Amino acid sequence: MTAEQSARFGWIDAHIHVDKYAPEERERLLAEAYAEGCEAVVGVSVNLESSRVNRDLALRHAGRFMPAYGHHPEIPVPGPEEEAELFAWIRKRHEAGERFAIGEVGLPYYTRTEAEKAGRPFDEGPHLQLLDRFAALAAELDRPIVLHAVYEDAEKACDALERHGVRRAHFHWFKGPESAVRRMIARGWHVSVTPDVVYEPEIRELVRAYPLELLMAETDGPWQYEGPYAGRATTPALVRDVIRAVAELKGLGVNETAGVMLETTKRFYGF
Ligand SMILES: [Zn+2]
Repeated sequence: MTAEQSARFGWIDAHIHVDKYAPEERERLLAEAYAEGCEAVVGVSVNLESSRVNRDLALRHAGRFMPAYGHHPEIPVPGPEEEAELFAWIRKRHEAGERFAIGEVGLPYYTRTEAEKAGRPFDEGPHLQLLDRFAALAAELDRPIVLHAVYEDAEKACDALERHGVRRAHFHWFKGPESAVRRMIARGWHVSVTPDVVYEPEIRELVRAYPLELLMAETDGPWQYEGPYAGRATTPALVRDVIRAVAELKGLGVNETAGVMLETTKRFYGF
């Protein structure tokens, strides 16, 4: 097989904020990605407004854009009315039989630790309570849930998921202690890695430790990366580099690795 042929494998960007790209860029971004071999994307949301934009994108790109609806943990928690509106809107999508996941939800690791370093008080309570309600919703509607819960927050997220018997959980851009990793693997929960797997030792270690069948690849675009990607715009095409790095770390062929990761992501999200 030539290098050209072996470079052609299908992939899914399992976590991207398409709505965070400029409105005039979104369609081009998706069209280019699909043309390059991207089979689908999982478009995650940060609040109700973002969820609405992602639903419209999903309707226009049926079967190739799985939306996830939620409230991002690194921004302030919504007020009671805003939260009620978001949850009611998600339930309406469920009653209409639409395809979607819950996310991006989780815990504010970066906001909390920055506040603590600066000596500012930070109340994690409302974030824990909101995550608990999202976990309950995911379990009740039997939807996949996308989590932003890293380092010591991972165990707290595991507690919430276990409390509600959540079956399908995806910890995106995961990094965390071995104890959490063991717990997540035992539950059959998934993690995804970003292009920083190319240059971050802790992420490379995670890939070595985590079963391939539970791994997905993502860009978290438009987030920009360092190392070989410094100054480069993030597009779903970077997922190909993630898959190549995973293949190398697992000691497997690129096509085999890509095939397993594609199937895993399709099965998990129900594409
Ligand atoms: Zn994200």
